[in-house]
Amino acid sequence: MLALTDQELLRYDRQISLLGFDIDKQQMLKNSAVLIIGLGGLGCTASLYLSRAGIGKLTLVDFDTVSESNLNRQILYTHQDIKQLKVDVAKQTLIKMNSDIEIDTINQKLDDVSLTSLIKQHNLVIDCTDNLSSREQINRCCFQVKKPLVSGAAIRMEGILTTFTYQANEPCYHCLSRLFGQDQLTCIEAGVMAPLVGMFGSMQALEAIKVLTDYGQPLVGRVLMIDAKSMQFNHVSLSKQPDCQVCGNSNKI
Ligand SMILES: [Zn+2]
Repeated sequence: MLALTDQELLRYDRQISLLGFDIDKQQMLKNSAVLIIGLGGLGCTASLYLSRAGIGKLTLVDFDTVSESNLNRQILYTHQDIKQLKVDVAKQTLIKMNSDIEIDTINQKLDDVSLTSLIKQHNLVIDCTDNLSSREQINRCCFQVKKPLVSGAAIRMEGILTTFTYQANEPCYHCLSRLFGQDQLTCIEAGVMAPLVGMFGSMQALEAIKVLTDYGQPLVGRVLMIDAKSMQFNHVSLSKQPDCQVCGNSNKI
């Protein structure tokens, strides 16, 4: 286990001072590797906070380039990055903020086999994608190797956040998604308010830190639903569906 340097002890002093967090947990962050899939509004914010908070390694996956309509909410990019690969620009920006962090980038869509082998090399996965089929794939692969997954989605003025650790009798993403069917809108169709994705990206980073360091109670078996128009925060509990196609007892995809 890599120990913290004197400079890191200073930089992360405000986290180390937290009751129950201490040097041990900051050191756990330094020795953690997180896989972030999707570098839109959620992924930009989550990667920014995780690198600032002292995570040891990030792997960024995205196969898109920066466009003008990204700039209102994808806070790692500027006007001069337009048409460049998101993974490249994101890496450069994050390294500027924290040069101690190790960053790998993958500029392609992965199939189940390569995604699962990538997930195995990390301690936790953050789903920052914007479509149902990617979310289902990430959940399927995380479940297979039982790696924790922090899942967030934001659209219009609403969003949901939840965490899966895939222990016995815990639900998976498919236990949730099968409740709302196939007709999912995207932000291109429905729009999204810029600070909303910042809220959810930050909360995804926070959940990741909690799971990685065993600090507090992550949103396992619970879904946080926020309606930003009225600022109503609600929790619903989510249980394992015995006949779920992914985590159910009888059949596996
Ligand atoms: Zn399930």
